[in-house]
Amino acid sequence: MIRYTCDMCGREIKPHILRYKVNIDVIAAYDTLVITKEDLKRDFQKEIKRLLEKMKDMDEEELMEDIWKNFSFDLCKKCRDIYLKSPLGLVNTEEL
Ligand SMILES: [Zn+2]
Repeated sequence: MIRYTCDMCGREIKPHILRYKVNIDVIAAYDTLVITKEDLKRDFQKEIKRLLEKMKDMDEEELMEDIWKNFSFDLCKKCRDIYLKSPLGLVNTEEL
């Protein structure tokens, strides 16, 4: 049987207790491209070279994380309530 522990408080979440899943996707957002006259004048060969040069030092995982990063957590009810008060961690939840 799979045993779950809360990723915030570390307590075991027993089968009869409600378990909450938190899935966070941090994805690069690309807005629709607007091409201007200035863009058409750019030296694309040079820019692609510069980009490739920059990517050379990054491994595949780093490149992937630049675009998409996913987190998945299990929470008990108590920690779920705390988490929902400040999902971005902007507020010190201990003071709430
Ligand atoms: Zn917990």
